[in-house]
Amino acid sequence: MNSGENKNMANTYWNQALETLPEKDLQAYEVPLLVKQIDYLYHSSDYYRTQFAEAGINLQDINCHKALEAVPFTEKKTLAETQREGQLIGPHQCAPREDIVRLVGTGGTSGKPMRIAWTRNDIDVYNEMGARALWMMGCRPGDLVVNCFNYSIYAGGIMDHMAFETLGASILAYGVGKSRELLELLADLSGEKCLYSTPSYAVLLEEVAEQANINPLDLNLHKGFFSGEGGLQVPGYRQRIESTWGMSSHDLYGIAELGCQSAECEYREGMHFCGGGLVIAELIDPDTGSVKPMIDGETGELVYTSIKREASPLLRFRSHDHVQVFTDPCQCGRHSFRFRTLGRSDDMFVVKGVNIYPTGVQDVVTQFRPRLTGEFQIILDQPPPVDYAPRLMVEVVQDFPEQQHEQLIVEVGDVIKRRAGFTAQVELVKQGTIASEHKTHRVLRLYENL
Ligand SMILES: [Zn+2]
Repeated sequence: MNSGENKNMANTYWNQALETLPEKDLQAYEVPLLVKQIDYLYHSSDYYRTQFAEAGINLQDINCHKALEAVPFTEKKTLAETQREGQLIGPHQCAPREDIVRLVGTGGTSGKPMRIAWTRNDIDVYNEMGARALWMMGCRPGDLVVNCFNYSIYAGGIMDHMAFETLGASILAYGVGKSRELLELLADLSGEKCLYSTPSYAVLLEEVAEQANINPLDLNLHKGFFSGEGGLQVPGYRQRIESTWGMSSHDLYGIAELGCQSAECEYREGMHFCGGGLVIAELIDPDTGSVKPMIDGETGELVYTSIKREASPLLRFRSHDHVQVFTDPCQCGRHSFRFRTLGRSDDMFVVKGVNIYPTGVQDVVTQFRPRLTGEFQIILDQPPPVDYAPRLMVEVVQDFPEQQHEQLIVEVGDVIKRRAGFTAQVELVKQGTIASEHKTHRVLRLYENL
């Protein structure tokens, strides 16, 4: 945050009053909201009332952050299952239908998409948190942003679009696909522009530009805001995107059920949680469910409780995101904890007892640029236990000589074994076959479709 920005806080989403509040004071601010939310859940949802009764919880006991530990977790799987029984939202719906003004769905990374409902006040909360995250990444009123997320059901489309509008950016609703036309549109618009997409879409777009003989640097995309998948934290991947497009790049992290809850500030040392006063985050041990202290370097899974939601509030919602948190002071002045993602537990797989995250594999694959593009996919053909060597598909660049393919396969396999900790059957595939216009799935469990 430079001094110029610090002087003029009005009408910005750098919420200095809240974001620089010491943790203790923030908790004091949040407690009345938590108490009110719990009371609301109890009185408006059979689902939560039953949950409280089964756990033997008295409402008056939930009067501080620590007391939340007694509350049972909410699992996405449970909520999604109730929707399969024909309900629009499910028994955790708290607001009446006439107050619900928007519905979106999850991206369906683990099974069928789940519907999420929003009242007008819920949308305000989403926009507030989203605008804080976007501001943190350097988005400013007047920035022309092209949103390349899917507007069909997916929250990255309409929901994030509205967060950009709330901040005051000029947001262009592009959606997915028609990449060649997108490049023409960008060429047609003079001045600087920003891209909002997955990191792998920026890589795909680079390939489309190459085929169309367009120099990405001529398109003047000066800021990249990336979300939807990990990867930007792998240094080679970020640098590739930045040098190809001549842009600065920042990572945003969100989940459809909650919103854009964290982002990188200008120092890019992990993503700051930006849900202060709106959402309470806890760190837990994913195996035992016990709460872990939020101390520098600690790892665990993030769990969220919304404290200002009406339609379908989340109570100790398990994200299945495995993270490492950082709590040492950040130079930007924000006090919220920062984290880097280690992976989703959905994406994590265990090979002979070793936990493998796609980001660890990506780290290795990226080292092989420019021989490989950096795109990859892990294929699990058989259900766990994985006591076999999973297939690892990597993209080889077009002009890499075929007679050297065998040698490259051996080299990649060796480094995967050494650095990522498992033996893979490495397969080379043609450039452009893995990155997708939607989220690129890094782990394919083929046995699930049998
Ligand atoms: Zn910072």
